[in-house]
Amino acid sequence: MTTEAVELGGEPWPVELMNTVWADRQGVHDTLDDPEQARAWFGGAARGLGRPDGTVDDEALRRLRALRDALRCLAAEATADDRPTWTSPVTDADQAVAVVNDAASAAPTWSALERDEGGALVRVTRSHGSAALAVVAAVAEQAVDLLAGSADLRACRAPGCVLYFVRQHARREWCSAGCGNRARVARHYRRHHGGQFE
Ligand SMILES: [Zn+2]
Repeated sequence: MTTEAVELGGEPWPVELMNTVWADRQGVHDTLDDPEQARAWFGGAARGLGRPDGTVDDEALRRLRALRDALRCLAAEATADDRPTWTSPVTDADQAVAVVNDAASAAPTWSALERDEGGALVRVTRSHGSAALAVVAAVAEQAVDLLAGSADLRACRAPGCVLYFVRQHARREWCSAGCGNRARVARHYRRHHGGQFE
């Protein structure tokens, strides 16, 4: 099996993590269910967050998954999400908040000075936890910002879609151009044929 690149949607990391649950015509998929895909996703996040030294382990993947389910629960609350397709196994928002806080505090980080090979001072990030847990903590930290801040988090309402996105401009209605097209086709179908478009 070759390592496939994991597709990202250009969303902030906490939203990308929520969107590791995605759907197509075959049904709902979970990128984190496949160990190789999960590791690929983790590697991408580690690089994106400036912590590429985080060698992923089972503990970090378990925590990442728990954080994902907690974030989807809180996103559902924040977006009044009533899409039936996929709901988080975490349904208690207080429990979800505790999972996010746990993840954020599992590997606190701070900045430190180090000398590079040429003797110049460079800034490095240190952590009490493993480098892998620091990656999970960094995603949790961003999630705190996102959920407590003014970001306009939305659930994509295109037929069958289970993704979330941050609305950056007022006209954006869908997670992707593909969903926008499908939603328009569904609307057209309903108008001309009535009933439900599948
Ligand atoms: Zn969508």
